[in-house]
Amino acid sequence: MNTFNQWFLSSSSNSIENYYQYMSEAAEIIGDHYQGLERPYEHIDTADIQNKIEDFMIIGNEGKSLDHILGSIQRLVMEHSLHISHPGAMAHLHCPPIIPALAAEVIISALNQSMDSWDQSPAATYIEDGVIQEMIKKINYPESASGVFTSGGTQSNYMALLLARNEYCAKHFSINVSKRGLPAEAQKLRIFCSEKAHFTVQQSAAQLGLGMESVVSIKTNDRYEMCIDTLYEEIEKVKKQGNLPLAVVATIGTTDFGSIDSLSEISQLTERENIWLHADAAYGGALLFSHKYSHLAAHLNKADSITIDFHKWFYQPASCGAFFVRNASMFQHIKLHADYLNPEEDSRFHLVDRSIQTTKRFDALKVWLTFQAVGQQEFGDMIDHTIQTAKQTADYLLKRTDIDVLNIPEMNAIVFRYQPNIYYTDSQKQRFYENKINHSIQQQLYETGRLIMAKTKDQGKSYLKLTMLNPLITFDETVKRLVEVIHLGKDLEKKGAHLREHSVTS
Ligand SMILES: *Cc1c(COP(=O)(O)O)cnc(C)c1O
Repeated sequence: MNTFNQWFLSSSSNSIENYYQYMSEAAEIIGDHYQGLERPYEHIDTADIQNKIEDFMIIGNEGKSLDHILGSIQRLVMEHSLHISHPGAMAHLHCPPIIPALAAEVIISALNQSMDSWDQSPAATYIEDGVIQEMIKKINYPESASGVFTSGGTQSNYMALLLARNEYCAKHFSINVSKRGLPAEAQKLRIFCSEKAHFTVQQSAAQLGLGMESVVSIKTNDRYEMCIDTLYEEIEKVKKQGNLPLAVVATIGTTDFGSIDSLSEISQLTERENIWLHADAAYGGALLFSHKYSHLAAHLNKADSITIDFHKWFYQPASCGAFFVRNASMFQHIKLHADYLNPEEDSRFHLVDRSIQTTKRFDALKVWLTFQAVGQQEFGDMIDHTIQTAKQTADYLLKRTDIDVLNIPEMNAIVFRYQPNIYYTDSQKQRFYENKINHSIQQQLYETGRLIMAKTKDQGKSYLKLTMLNPLITFDETVKRLVEVIHLGKDLEKKGAHLREHSVTS
């Protein structure tokens, strides 16, 4: 054995000792950090952190000690990271990673299986397919269904529209797009989704050679759900223009509001018109495991394809998502043979046949380990707890006159704004002033690390957003944090009033 053996796992004691040391010291700095954690974020000037990290980036000729390296990581990276496991972090659909999945990551990376061909992942292939099959049962999909792990919602939504496009072209124009490319008629294909759908619908259309303008945006009702009448009218309009309805993307949990498009109504329309129905349940997929709210995901099985993200409401470290199709034969549209991976004469099971990725992580193990450790009962309790906490928080906010709440949460996202008590006669000025106050509230709380909220816009107005994914978030603690939002708003308002008087008198 040569001198490199401390760096790679092998049967030598040198190798295994070094492995244990790296793993235990890495785990220790994480544990130490959480022990003293008071806030989700410690602010540092952007230029400051950039300079410090630049100095650290220089790669020396000789290796440094593990203590030295981990010390730098503690000071530079951990101190100034956003600590998403802290209950004060409620900005995006960005989840606290669950501990069983963190243990799974240790195994995933050490085994380093690649999920493209069977010979690189002989056991792991069946774990991935097994998790997919369990999800298919939960979805209540027919036996013809299939699926694959993806890097997340972006990839899953892309795959849905890719399969829909190729299937349409095969069926209606007898063209194999994989071989021949797009026919001229592809210019006429149209995709429908609500104005609150994820931007990756447009992005996918752009990348698939259909163009962003092929996406018809359907307005939403007062609950931010796709208006079915408008969908119907727009489909009719597109047909009259001589264009071709390709797919409807329904969102089961919009990113901002967690609003849920009616799959039962939309599927009646898409079945009648023979249009591909994709359900983007990147966020809402976890409702399948809820005890009280699983009815909200009951019609997922009506969709031709489904996106579910595990790195959102399933508490998995990024990246981890899945894509499902009702009819496994649709994967034929992306299947290619490579002599070195999945040659045509090879009858073994290769996950690359279902994927647009080649080398692919064994992410299924972390989902599997999580379900095994937590069990369905407690997992469902967590999902329900977050929904109930969000509903309770929205009730609290709705009672206040200094807060404007946009949505009654069906999942765990609340969009609201601080409503100042000052009125300008000029409505544009008023809007500018209100937006500014809300921006300042969001930014100042971020910088003090007291509360991490997201901001979003609706009809030109700026709003604050809480995404209460973390099951450690409680109602009482959240109210304390919201009182700070209101105090800060009032404080800014006073300063604003002062500025206004100043500008009037001068
Ligand atoms: C997050 C999200 C996506 C994008 O998923 P990524 O995992 O970030 O790639 C797509 N659709 C919806 C509804 C989402 O919430």
